[in-house]
Amino acid sequence: MPFRLLLTIFCLFFISLINAQENQSVKIRKVVIDAGHGGHDAGAVSPDRRVYEKNITLSVALKLGAMIKDKYPDIKVIYTRTTDIFIPLITRTEIANKNQANLFISIHVNSVKARSASGSETFVMGMDRSNSNLEVTMRENSVIALEGDHESKYEGFDPKNPESYIIFSLLQNAHLEQSLIMASLIQDQFSKGVIKTNRGIKQGELLVLWKTTMPAVLVELGFISNPSDYLTLINKDNHYRFAGSIFKAFEEFKHQYEYGSKIVADTLKDELVATPIIREEPKTETKKTEKASYRIQILAVAKILPANSPDLKGERNVRFIRVGKFYKYGIGDYERLEEAEKDLPLIRKKFPQAFIIKVEKGTIVPL
Ligand SMILES: [Zn+2]
Repeated sequence: MPFRLLLTIFCLFFISLINAQENQSVKIRKVVIDAGHGGHDAGAVSPDRRVYEKNITLSVALKLGAMIKDKYPDIKVIYTRTTDIFIPLITRTEIANKNQANLFISIHVNSVKARSASGSETFVMGMDRSNSNLEVTMRENSVIALEGDHESKYEGFDPKNPESYIIFSLLQNAHLEQSLIMASLIQDQFSKGVIKTNRGIKQGELLVLWKTTMPAVLVELGFISNPSDYLTLINKDNHYRFAGSIFKAFEEFKHQYEYGSKIVADTLKDELVATPIIREEPKTETKKTEKASYRIQILAVAKILPANSPDLKGERNVRFIRVGKFYKYGIGDYERLEEAEKDLPLIRKKFPQAFIIKVEKGTIVPL
């Protein structure tokens, strides 16, 4: 066989191999559903001490899994537990990572000292120093005290010591954008569900999300410490509704994941990141180009970052565009697509998930 023909066949084979891999990678094939707590870890306990978080989370998790299996038999649903057993946080993450799941959903029930707190919220991994978030993250992380040898398993992490949370400062944002999308879809559904108070998307340093290698969210269905939420949470029929809300969010996420983002920009702003100096400038001086330009998006988060944020990895000339609940941070201002393409590999060394966006009149438009 002539060498060139052989080479062509080899190339065709190689290309088809890449295509096969790409086609596989855009489909949701495996979902891990994590029922929070279990066994000797009851999780949050109701004020009358009769209802445990671990039982509600398992009930909702199993119903959600059944809904996914029923409608999408090709998707493999993996539970971290299906019975009342104790599973260390790190094992839950390992189950998701080992299975190369495309999505990780951890289900929890909230509890705080203030009885008035109510509503649902969804966490994604991230640094947020606000006290209310810290109360939840510390409580959810404190489970590791029930595990043996947690010092070595969690790199010396002490859930009760705020200083310990520094280990998260080198956080990678690889799946943050997709986690935020899933979180946002869940909260949208919850606000139409049985507990309508929408406390929004939160970022927290949650051990169970920390080392996941896929989009991952932690859902807090409601507050067992609140009298009204409590009555909703203990009603078994409502467990189907909670599961149904997460399922609808999952379906929308699946669609976006497989067919590209359909998020429509609502409030759109194009501003310079607030560095201590730039913040002094009046907003009217914010650059708004009439002509389309290209930019490299490095990350998307649910809040405005300070210019010295570790998430920006020392990048200075960063701007964000607000799209719905997200702040999409980008570098550069290129007139031509080719120029952005030239810089992309360099920026990907620092931000592996970076990609090119087209900006027109302060909004992101299709490339
Ligand atoms: Zn919990």
